[in-house]
Amino acid sequence: ATPVRQDFIRQIVRDDLAAGRQQAIKTRFPPEPNGYLHIGHTRAIWTDFGIAAEFGGVCNLRLDDTNPAKEDPEYVAAIQDDVRWLGYDWHDLRHASDYFDVLYLAGEKLIKQGDAFVCDLTAEQVREYRGTLTEPGRNSPYRDRSVEENLDLFRRMRAGEFPDGARTLRAKIDMGSGNINLRDPALYRIKHVTHQNTGDAWPIYPMYDYAHSLSDAVEGITHSLCTLEFEDHRPLYDWCVDKVDLAHHPELVAPLQAKGLPFEASKPRQIEFSRLNINYTVMSKRKLMALVQENLVDGWDDPRMPSLQGIRRRGYTPGALKLFVSRLGLSKQNSMIDFSVLENTLREDLDAAAPRRMAVLSPLKFVLTNLPEGHEESLRFSNHPKDASFGERDIPFSRELWIERDDFAEVPPKGWKRLVPGGDVRLRGAGIVRCDEVIRDANGEIVELRGTLDPESRPGMAGADRKVKGTIHWVSAQHAVPAEVRLYDRLFSVADPDDDADGKTYRDHLNPASRTTVQGWVEPAAATAAPEQSFQFERIGYFVADRKDHRADKPVFNRSVTLRDTWSA
Ligand code: ATP
Ligand code: MG
Ligand code: MG
Repeated sequence: ATPVRQDFIRQIVRDDLAAGRQQAIKTRFPPEPNGYLHIGHTRAIWTDFGIAAEFGGVCNLRLDDTNPAKEDPEYVAAIQDDVRWLGYDWHDLRHASDYFDVLYLAGEKLIKQGDAFVCDLTAEQVREYRGTLTEPGRNSPYRDRSVEENLDLFRRMRAGEFPDGARTLRAKIDMGSGNINLRDPALYRIKHVTHQNTGDAWPIYPMYDYAHSLSDAVEGITHSLCTLEFEDHRPLYDWCVDKVDLAHHPELVAPLQAKGLPFEASKPRQIEFSRLNINYTVMSKRKLMALVQENLVDGWDDPRMPSLQGIRRRGYTPGALKLFVSRLGLSKQNSMIDFSVLENTLREDLDAAAPRRMAVLSPLKFVLTNLPEGHEESLRFSNHPKDASFGERDIPFSRELWIERDDFAEVPPKGWKRLVPGGDVRLRGAGIVRCDEVIRDANGEIVELRGTLDPESRPGMAGADRKVKGTIHWVSAQHAVPAEVRLYDRLFSVADPDDDADGKTYRDHLNPASRTTVQGWVEPAAATAAPEQSFQFERIGYFVADRKDHRADKPVFNRSVTLRDTWSA
């Protein structure tokens, strides 16, 4: 069994169960469908789904769709895809909009209790009346409207009689509160906007805190886990839950029964944890959306994007992401995680999980003149140096090979271990070769090397143990398959692309070298990979067969991560 982790949220859950405050645990993951999920959401998903599972509870997926102007069914579908890809499944799929009728009835209840009023101040006036951190706010002149007038106006808001922004429903709490969120916050606003789930049924929409707290209470959520920016909203969250008191007012949830939705009243408890921040990237849906809309990347699934769709296409695995967030754990302290920590986790995951293949990305022809024309043989290679369960494969070997241009130096720098004119090098798994001749074209460019294979150095022979300095990889020119290889790197070239100093924005810090495409050669057993299969291309890095574009007869590979960290060196 996996050891139960220790952190402050798990401790609270454990205590609540032990003390009998809760009989069972229920959480929810509540993304707004206004964009695609990103790496940061992995922390919330791992927390919400992970904690529920560890304590024998369940987790709902709730689309927090109270802001119709920016929401779209495309995002609703993508979010479900991404959560499943990470390996989680939800108990119920819900939309905050499933509860619009309940929220509306709860609004009428608050009015009747004298806890809410319809306010005619404009947005600008509301800001003026709100006060500041150091100055209390002032009561709205509409605060003392009668219950009858408030009810009449709220019903007419709902009927669509007033234009956008003309009125709001506000909670009647305390304009003198030190917590600005409690200064008579808006609960409802007028917006004549078509909603992705409810169409044109509603001209008014509930505000986030109101909708979120009551949705939690309707679903029977016990622990409402969210990020730190909601800490100051917690008193309002509790206010909404307590004042509406769904558990004792079944008439408010009658609309759910009509829709066949369950009602499991709870007194949910909000607990906040810090957001996951990673340098060399941006992680807000708004900024990611801008990158897509301004064509600075090739869409949400561009492999350079920190969206889950993007890093999935880049070759990140659910295992690596979950290992990453679980190692970081949960805390109340905001911090910035170095991008290399994420990359190292992927290296660790793929080192264990990815079979090895040979590929040459910057090809130089190497002809073994002592092999007969048309010579062909198969060499047996293990697929993983540390794990025999990966099995073996045959690699074709012949007279003409591709090797990396970088593995040959006419004038070797100090400490050079690879091929030089007249020197020996070991060809991975094939024997020791010597370079006898360098062929150039009319411009003096090196176009081919010629050399000889030491026949006594073949694998298994006594001469195979002869000491040579270096080992290089290769593919058989006649058998290798041409492949498009996309070499991805970090999307931003500075650690803090969000730093808006000098009037620059993250757009100005895009890494111009974040993608280069090369035509390389891969061994046949790489070409036949299924899309999304990961490999280590020996001596080069980890690569994945592109999810969209890869085909066995037209291979396309994405570099997921280099073998070693080249940034912090
Ligand atoms: P963004 O600013 O990117 O739009 P958001 O918080 O508005 O983020 P939501 O779709 O509302 O995005 O997020 C759903 C859940 O995921 C929330 O509980 C939110 O707190 C959590 N979440 C979002 N970003 C992060 C992050 N970087 N680290 C941890 N949790 C996050
Ligand atoms: Mg949000
Ligand atoms: Mg947001």
